[in-house]
Amino acid sequence: MITEHIAKHGQPQTSVRPDVAEAIAQLLELGEQQSDLQPAVRLQIEVLRTIYALPVTVYALSLTTEEVVTRWGTGTPLLHNVSLPIDLVQFRALFQHLAAVTYQHERAQCVADLDPLALAHMLLSGDRQALIHQIQASGCSPEPIITLLRLALLPFLEQVAEQLTPLRTSPDVQRRAPWKHGYCPTCGAWPLLATVHGQEQQRHLHCGMCATTWPAERVWCPFCDTRDHTQLGYLQVEDSPQSIAVCDACHSYLKVHKTLQRLTTPQLLVAEVASIHLDLIALDRGYALPE
Ligand SMILES: [Zn+2]
Ligand SMILES: [Zn+2]
Repeated sequence: MITEHIAKHGQPQTSVRPDVAEAIAQLLELGEQQSDLQPAVRLQIEVLRTIYALPVTVYALSLTTEEVVTRWGTGTPLLHNVSLPIDLVQFRALFQHLAAVTYQHERAQCVADLDPLALAHMLLSGDRQALIHQIQASGCSPEPIITLLRLALLPFLEQVAEQLTPLRTSPDVQRRAPWKHGYCPTCGAWPLLATVHGQEQQRHLHCGMCATTWPAERVWCPFCDTRDHTQLGYLQVEDSPQSIAVCDACHSYLKVHKTLQRLTTPQLLVAEVASIHLDLIALDRGYALPE
């Protein structure tokens, strides 16, 4: 079968990663349970299949403990202003392919004019104004393109972040420069969601761009840093293992998932779809995600 496939399409068929297959099965189940989610489910399955269709190549990022301590001491994420240790040809191809799958029709032309590598660098360097300006100059809408960038970076940065785990979690770094910020210690993105698990209900934040997970205090807003409990609360969601933490100081919200096990990276994309109703509730109540 595989030989036949190679003969037909000129490239080997790759097997689906077990965690990707599991996430797709969960999405299909979600779509069956909630028919209004069907379009979002179908799109997310396409995204998962596309971003994990081919192997991705990443290179070693040489960072020393001292460099991590220096960066974190000034609140600087590890991938801020470094040349991305990923195969740039593969990344460009994945971005274009993902755009063709998810960003179709009349707007497709604007995508062809974008330089995904330059955009990724702006995104990772926190240069949001330049990023938005560049996207708009091509005639594309910033928000969907930034989502596309995040998703196309995910399979690469997931591996880069994984590679940096021993350094990030080393007792020396933890003692000298523990990460106390709401944005991702690896890539600088805001958290996609939070999880709580265990008897102590320990909260963790999860990055949707590099899949880094980092611990967070419960009475704390990761977006504006307030610890004022009178400004922090939850929106009630009936019959749901998910809740919405809200901050009245900066009017942002964070989706919180109760989990029994650690979420895999593909499951972050399942959780994103499974919690669309939380976004609607939060937006309806006047809260928003930070820029
Ligand atoms: Zn990240
Ligand atoms: Zn806040």
